[in-house]
Amino acid sequence: MNVNQSAPPVPPFGQPQPIYPGYHQSSYGGQPGSTAPPTPYGAYNGPVPGYQQTPPQGMSRAPPSSGAPPASTAQAPCGPATYGQFGQGDVQNGPSSTVQVQRLPGSQPFGSPLAPVVSQPAVLQSYGPPPTSAQVTTQLAGMQISGAVAPAPPTSGMGYGPPTSLASASGSFPNSGLYGSYPQGQAPPIGQAQGYLGVQTPQRSAPSQASSFTPPASGGPRMPSVTGPLLPGQGFGGPPVSQPNHVSSPSPQALPPGTQMTGPPGPPPPMHSPQQPGYQLQQNGSFGPARGPQPNYGSPYPGAATFGSQPGPPQPLPPKRLDPDAIPSPQLNELPPQQKTRHRIDPDAIPSPIQVIEDDRNNRGTEPFVTGVRGQVPPLVTTNFLVKDQGNASPRYIRCTSYNIPCTSDMAKQAQVPLAAVIKPLARLPPEEASPYVVDHGESGPLRCNRCKAYMCPFMQFIEGGRRFQCCFCSCINDVPPQYFQHLDHTGKRVDAYDRPELSLGSYEFLATVDYCKNNKFPSPPAFIFMIDVSYNAIRTGLVRLLCEELKSLLDFLPREGGAEESAIRVGFVTYNKVLHFYNVKSSLAQPQMMVVSDVADMFVPLLDGFLVNVIESRAVITSLLDQIPEMFADTRETETVFAPVIQAGMEALKAAECAGKLFLFHTSLPMAEAPGKLKNRDDRKLINTDKEKTLFQPQTGAYQTLAKECVAQGCCVDLFLFPNQYVDVATLSVVPQLTGGSVYKYACFQVENDQERFLSDLRRDVQKVVGFDAVMRVRTSTGIRAVDFFGAFYMSNTTDVELAGLDGDKTVTVEFKHDDRLNEESGALLQCALLYTSCAGQRRLRIHNLALNCCTQLADMYRNCETDTLINYMAKFAYRAVLNSPVKAVRDTLITQCAQILACYRKNCASPSSAGQLILPECMKLLPVYLNCVLKSDVLQPGAEVTTDDRAYVRQLVTSMDVAETNVFFYPRLLPLTKSPIESTTEPPAVRASEERLSNGDVYLLENGLNLFLWVGASVQQGVVQSLFSVSSFSQITSGLSVLPILDNPLSKKVRDLIDSLRAQRSRYMKLIVVKQEDKLEMLFKHFLVEDKSLSGGASYVDFLCHMHKEIRQLLS
Ligand SMILES: [Zn+2]
Repeated sequence: MNVNQSAPPVPPFGQPQPIYPGYHQSSYGGQPGSTAPPTPYGAYNGPVPGYQQTPPQGMSRAPPSSGAPPASTAQAPCGPATYGQFGQGDVQNGPSSTVQVQRLPGSQPFGSPLAPVVSQPAVLQSYGPPPTSAQVTTQLAGMQISGAVAPAPPTSGMGYGPPTSLASASGSFPNSGLYGSYPQGQAPPIGQAQGYLGVQTPQRSAPSQASSFTPPASGGPRMPSVTGPLLPGQGFGGPPVSQPNHVSSPSPQALPPGTQMTGPPGPPPPMHSPQQPGYQLQQNGSFGPARGPQPNYGSPYPGAATFGSQPGPPQPLPPKRLDPDAIPSPQLNELPPQQKTRHRIDPDAIPSPIQVIEDDRNNRGTEPFVTGVRGQVPPLVTTNFLVKDQGNASPRYIRCTSYNIPCTSDMAKQAQVPLAAVIKPLARLPPEEASPYVVDHGESGPLRCNRCKAYMCPFMQFIEGGRRFQCCFCSCINDVPPQYFQHLDHTGKRVDAYDRPELSLGSYEFLATVDYCKNNKFPSPPAFIFMIDVSYNAIRTGLVRLLCEELKSLLDFLPREGGAEESAIRVGFVTYNKVLHFYNVKSSLAQPQMMVVSDVADMFVPLLDGFLVNVIESRAVITSLLDQIPEMFADTRETETVFAPVIQAGMEALKAAECAGKLFLFHTSLPMAEAPGKLKNRDDRKLINTDKEKTLFQPQTGAYQTLAKECVAQGCCVDLFLFPNQYVDVATLSVVPQLTGGSVYKYACFQVENDQERFLSDLRRDVQKVVGFDAVMRVRTSTGIRAVDFFGAFYMSNTTDVELAGLDGDKTVTVEFKHDDRLNEESGALLQCALLYTSCAGQRRLRIHNLALNCCTQLADMYRNCETDTLINYMAKFAYRAVLNSPVKAVRDTLITQCAQILACYRKNCASPSSAGQLILPECMKLLPVYLNCVLKSDVLQPGAEVTTDDRAYVRQLVTSMDVAETNVFFYPRLLPLTKSPIESTTEPPAVRASEERLSNGDVYLLENGLNLFLWVGASVQQGVVQSLFSVSSFSQITSGLSVLPILDNPLSKKVRDLIDSLRAQRSRYMKLIVVKQEDKLEMLFKHFLVEDKSLSGGASYVDFLCHMHKEIRQLLS
């Protein structure tokens, strides 16, 4: 069948059409326009009125006399239970009749009219079924990690040992947000680093190479084709071998010999003092030879152009420039003499992410991406482009690893390229693109195939004059209902095709009928419940006061549907420490009322009427409550908290109200109070690099999975805001958010003055974002392939339906496909993603996305239509899930093996014949090695000493639902020079590669990865620049670790601050700024993100990894 479509002659549907010119939305594609995009939260940009003027009273209260608060008692003297004097309303709003109510005597120190009611039913119930981890583990069964793994080798890398000076250098960094605390970790064991490999050599068994990747003598059985780490003393045994180095991509197919970088070492380093701790780290790494002198730091990369994406005849590389005045890397002088003579691989001669991104922007950023043609590879996620839906879903909704799928399973197995789609069903669109049209078929509901239940879409074939249609997914012939009948034109197309979104567009929505609703009842509008930890830690940091103040105004910005004047969402409030306090905020009350539930083992909701309310109606009572909460608990000494009962309470409240909704939990500590879901501190860094490391990622009790399952059944999504001072077991606490489609935010060592902006910004965005509730997603495929595996934040109770208690516009679900039959080149392969959900206004809807892919009988066609960014998204999610069940080393090895097989298959089947010593990469995958290396050395798979267990668990679950743009910048950060381009230039400066040798000490750089934002200041920056940005007279006066730039009235200051705002607006989480001075101890943290360099934790440099990949590929081919 023909799925290609021509453009409709007239705008369809008569609805407003997107305007294509003038598209400057910076949130999509990474190129902000000249003006900062509108913040999503205009009314909240300023300081919160009434908050900053008044210092938080809670902060000024005397803390407990001793450092740590006293151990909690059941009824702390200052606790809420002492608010025993009943207010006026206590009689009229008692708990439900099944609950025994006791009144507590007590004083009323704040004159609060709150009426506490302690409810203690006598019956204890067990909390839930015994722990089960089946949900997580069953999904991991597909991971192919075979064979035993060497037990805890000294280095966790691939043979690139870490330096020795880490422990002494790791100091106490300021709280960066992501890396909250930095315990003095043990230094990684010393590993002998292998500087580089000859990339092209006919003698595979040359002594130097053979020794380079010899596994340790003590190592266990090793993975096929995967080399083990080096032991000290290994690696440099052989004499230097002169090896011509060839690393090339197909365009040109191979670099001509003789263009390699074989220059002599440069003069001694004038730039870096050997005493600087930041550089000493490198000196022990034996890494110098691969990182040659880098002349012309700021200029575009001399050799990079040959790796551009424009196909063309092979071009000779310009000879490597060796400028005698250039600044060499300091390591050269530290090296044994024989290494200095080795040939190096020019970093400029290997594929550059920056160049690929730039080329795609230049080539594909100007024209809209029109989706009418099957199997088109969209522009990269880093390119700013507009989408015109002509029958296939926009790449903002679905991106695939390949847009041309092998016809047979055998071909697919040979290539080892995962067939996966990264789907973001509710993706937000730039204003220039129209939201999906909503189709209402009335009581009959959407038209579907009788057999496979696929929804009507542009690929369905109408036959017999329009009286029947053949399903494009299962080939079933269906009758067209009389009310849907329409004549066909001479091409067989319905004459109304362009009037109907479901016949002409890739994405659209159907209004669902009551048949699509739970219990055959249309849903009620959802509810938001704010559940606030009021234990000592939460009060002491000022969090509770800050949050309550913010909520007063934030509640005016709950998500609304379309042009609705007010939000349909109702709100409720709970505070808790080791007991829970529910609040009656019914509009008829003069003051809110509190009800205490201390029986946390059998959680119930003590009130129905007045708990979930309309914000506008109950405004006065809510404001009063939010005013009183910080006061009521100001003197608390309760340090213990519960956690699972809080979620249970919120879920029960939604159940009682018969609606879906979201819980916003603000939590500070490991829940150690006696209650269901009680946790113990089981953090143990000694487990890293052992077979038990996986337990650090697993929940310590199955209670949370059981609870999550109940939440999903109720449509109760949980967003968790964590404010830990120490280990809180993120791996366990994030189970419910993860399985309910929620989000986790973490603010380690939270302090109002330092972290307020970040927290409030995240909170505002989180509360306001549009969410689909009680959702089920199903991906249907045409005959030949089927969805077999799913990655993301959701729950699955069967093998096909992805259940999401909530789904927002940031969350993605990655779906992997496998062949179950032969595909057909002519008909291609079709995907249909159907998401059934309840909108913020309580409307039941179906969102449909369709995508047609090509199929091929030649592997070269697949390799020409791959998308590496999407491939990396899939591989990262695969690996991050696999660490739950396998040692991280085995996971890394699996990725390396798969990557080598992908590239070896290309070399064997698709590349033109060339010397075996040449590394040849497919054009579409030439960045696969560099990006995969970034995944391999990420904190989850290869943690440094400064990364905590909680950090790893946090990042692991964040990546699980990231889209392709997010994983792209997360694994390969953007590094932007700020003082290179003319000050009047309004465009974003072109990025440079994430490597230390790209940094010039006379410049200032911004680095961002979607979570972190650094401003790096070189030691020799002009005094005028320092003055303009920091308002101090010299470099030495700049405060290291600064998180806010002063607002100064000069062009440079304004430009840099605007750029920071623009970068923040592009990301789904607020990035806190950290100013890093060159050669300051904070620089260690910054260098962690220079991902082309060898990492402190032992991760390979890009050059080294490329050599390693080449060796793996050659082993596979030989
Ligand atoms: Zn069908």
